[in-house]
Amino acid sequence: MIVACLDLEGVLIPEIWINFADKTGIKELRLTTRDIPDYDVLMKKRLGILKEHNLKLKDIQDVIATLSPLDGAADFLNWLRSEMQVVILSDTFSEFAKPFMKQLVWPTLFCHSLEVNSSGDVVNYKLRMKDQKRAAVEAFRSINLSTIAAGDSYNDTSMLGAADAGILFCPPDNVIKEFPQFPVALDYQELRRLIETSRTKI
Ligand SMILES: [Mg+2]
Repeated sequence: MIVACLDLEGVLIPEIWINFADKTGIKELRLTTRDIPDYDVLMKKRLGILKEHNLKLKDIQDVIATLSPLDGAADFLNWLRSEMQVVILSDTFSEFAKPFMKQLVWPTLFCHSLEVNSSGDVVNYKLRMKDQKRAAVEAFRSINLSTIAAGDSYNDTSMLGAADAGILFCPPDNVIKEFPQFPVALDYQELRRLIETSRTKI
């Protein structure tokens, strides 16, 4: 039995923070790990900005709900779920992903979570564990499940390497150069073809 492990942002949905920044017009929220490499520093800064603009979780979810999955993502995911088990492994937070999950008809999602106080303010974030994508793939394999993983960025490469087959989906050029061992799909049709080819080799 095969489990397809998909990254979320950049594979099925747009980058949440960047789109949220554009929707709200809060430019500072466009900062990513490329600007502030320390994830904890970056997240604390983001939470500070939310507080400064008095954005509660509900406000954020309302904005995120106006965003849509990538074109063709829902059809691709429906096809994949008809072919094999699918788990989405993401480094986002379940509370932010929820509006997208609704639009994708509630696929299984393993990610991180936010700490929200009784007034609905986001006060902190909780990483479930470090390198959870790789750990999930290894755990699936340990219970005799084969895995095909697809992701777009650095935080997916350990998962891709641990899987029986790893595929890069629309990655930036530097990731393609640094990880030439993984085949690259630039659209869902190609991703589907690579998944179908991989499954015959597992
Ligand atoms: Mg991604």
